Amino acid sequence: MPATTVDPPTVPYQRCRWCRTPHAGPRLLCTTCGSTDLDDELSPGFGRIVRLTEASRRHGRPKQRCLVAVDEGFVVAATATGLPGAIQLGLRVRLEAPADELRRDFVVRAGA
Ligand SMILES: [Zn+2]
Repeated sequence: MPATTVDPPTVPYQRCRWCRTPHAGPRLLCTTCGSTDLDDELSPGFGRIVRLTEASRRHGRPKQRCLVAVDEGFVVAATATGLPGAIQLGLRVRLEAPADELRRDFVVRAGA
């Protein structure tokens, strides 16, 4: 993996202190062991597309929603835009935090 940039980590997640299971997004309990001892961590956001969901073309810009398995071991929903024909299962991507705070999905960039 080329590491030419030193961007700050962008994807927040939580990891259980007891069983080390990673969880996407804020939680009160570990879903594996039930512990409430969860550490807040940040991932650089590198991962792979593991599922493709709905595609749309609004305002002429193709959008593909997908699920991304992040290297740290959790899965998040994301929206891929402006990747002409490149969205496929297994594609290596990098997640970026959404520019618009109201949109919950992360944005996918190819070639990470
Ligand atoms: Zn746990």
